[in-house]
Parts: sequence; C-alpha cells; structure tokens
Amino acid sequence: MFCPYCRHNDSRVLDSRVADDGLSIRRRRQCPVCERRFTTVEQMQLSVVKRSGVVEPFSRDKVVAGVRKACKDRPVSEDDLVRLGRQVEDELRAAGLCEVPSDAIGEAILAPLCRLDAVAYLRFASVYRHYETLDDFASEIAQLTHPPDGPGTMPDDSDAAVPDRRPLAAAVA
Ligand SMILES: [Zn+2]
Repeated sequence: MFCPYCRHNDSRVLDSRVADDGLSIRRRRQCPVCERRFTTVEQMQLSVVKRSGVVEPFSRDKVVAGVRKACKDRPVSEDDLVRLGRQVEDELRAAGLCEVPSDAIGEAILAPLCRLDAVAYLRFASVYRHYETLDDFASEIAQLTHPPDGPGTMPDDSDAAVPDRRPLAAAVA
C-alpha cells in the first residue's frame, strides 16, 4: 500500500488486530522511507443482489440519495442522513454476509427512518412496500400512532374524529 505521506509505493505492517465484532481488521503500517505510521482498516466487500440478479457493490451514497428524496421539505438534516446511512450499513454488515438482497436494504432503512421522521418514513414505505390503497396507509399510520408499547406520537388533531384510538388500531389490524 502507498504511503499517504510521501507516496512511496510500499509499507510494512507492524501490527494487525481484529475488531471486537470480528467484522474488520485494523493494520498499523509504517513507511520504510519516511518512517511515518498510519492505520488501514480491512473490511469485507458488501455486495447487493438486485432483483434482476445483477450484483453490485453496496453504496451508502445510494441509500442516502434514496432516503433524501423521501425527506424533501422535512426537518431532516444532512447529518441525519449521513448517520442513517451508517446505521443501515452497520445493520447489514452485522449479519456477517457478503451478499445481501436489495430488499434487505429497504427493510434496514425503515426503522431508523421512522425514528427520524414519520412523514418521510410513510413516503419511503409507500414506494418501497408498494402501497396501493388508502387502507395500506391507514394500517401503517395506525401502527405508527399505536406502537405496541407506548402512547401515540401524532398530534391530537390528526385523528380528531376518533375519540378513542385503540378501537381504530384493532379495526385496521
Ligand atoms: Zn512515506
């Protein structure tokens, strides 16, 4: 590997260490010419198998670009998107597989996006899960507003016509 300081075309490994999660290796290297030290991280190449069968390298940028569209005009910052991209990659890598189906990426996006912004989540889920009817949205919103272990999080006027929320959730489910 090239020295990042003087561009000498070789470097010597001083030390290799497997990360605690077993998913990467850090190597401490030294340049034989300028003698400066640097660290490299070796990580498995994560690939995505598309529905067509085509395999391509996983791209965090593509994940962020897809989510950014769903977040248009929502209070979600670029930092939020970067963090979400990292969370999605971490979750996919945690499975320890070198190839993941493209559907798994969509699934991995849903939970962190839901925590970030419910509206952006609905936009993304409606495309990703191919919602076709209002019932599809109603059922998703019912789950958002009635999480299994907590009170609703939507503003009170969002369902003013429904005095008690629980029967609605039951009816939709
Ligand atoms: Zn050097």
